Amino acid sequence: MSTQFEIQGLKSSIEGKEILKGIDLKIKGGEVHAIMGPNGTGKSTLASALMGHPKYEVTDGSVTLNGEDVLDMGVDERARAGLFLAMQYPSEITGVTNADFLRSAINARRGEGNEISLIKFVRQMEGKMKELEMNPEFMHRYLNEGFSGGEKKRNEILQMLLLEPKLVILDEIDSGLDIDALRIVAEGVNAMRSEDRGFLIITHYQRLLNYITPDFVHVMMQGRIVKSGGPELATRLEAEGYDWVKEELGIVDETVGQA
Ligand code: ADP
Ligand code: MG
Repeated sequence: MSTQFEIQGLKSSIEGKEILKGIDLKIKGGEVHAIMGPNGTGKSTLASALMGHPKYEVTDGSVTLNGEDVLDMGVDERARAGLFLAMQYPSEITGVTNADFLRSAINARRGEGNEISLIKFVRQMEGKMKELEMNPEFMHRYLNEGFSGGEKKRNEILQMLLLEPKLVILDEIDSGLDIDALRIVAEGVNAMRSEDRGFLIITHYQRLLNYITPDFVHVMMQGRIVKSGGPELATRLEAEGYDWVKEELGIVDETVGQA
């Protein structure tokens, strides 16, 4: 079955303050959607709410993946169902090696009784690390500990490649990447594009979208999607910034205002 991911009227609050004010978005398998917007407009909050981060309370709306109620699932269940988030600020976990972490994540996704063999896992991990031009030593380093910004981002993409999710959310995957790393990361994403996988790419800058061509571009302001279009919208934002969108819509402060 081709993937269908649907967000309807999603509202979310942090510590009682409403950040997401009604998000509607439909992503089909094979599609790449980009969410662009200035800082503080709610983009990362959307990613966190979709993954079930406990700090982000969903107060209204629905989210479904192939008809299943995502909001009803715990964080682990969401991952098992095929949701994947590459975080803007990946966490460091001392004492857990990258290989241990990845193997647990893969096995959680595959389910009990269907665990990957150690040999097969190592072979896959080595292969993907090579594609991403990652030093093999990263396999045995503690998760993200002492990784540079760019190394963390590559490592998030490594997770994506190995987990083969159905809906991929990348939050500012381009930040901290030099041009070569950006190209490698984009190649990894492009290689994963397929009919049964959808992408939600959150980015501040259009640069990444020169390498990953989106089908749809959405602009987020004040905790809402205020404008949608095709790739030409990203090109215009790159050339002219966000001011014209604000003028067009009569928005003075694009951030999620103080409640
Ligand atoms: P963006 O990713 O578009 O820059 P965010 O979703 O990170 O925006 O933030 C939107 C608003 O929500 C900001 O005002 C931010 O301060 C607030 N916010 C986000 N996460 C938290 C948090 N964990 N605790 C308190 N406030 C938060
Ligand atoms: Mg953000």
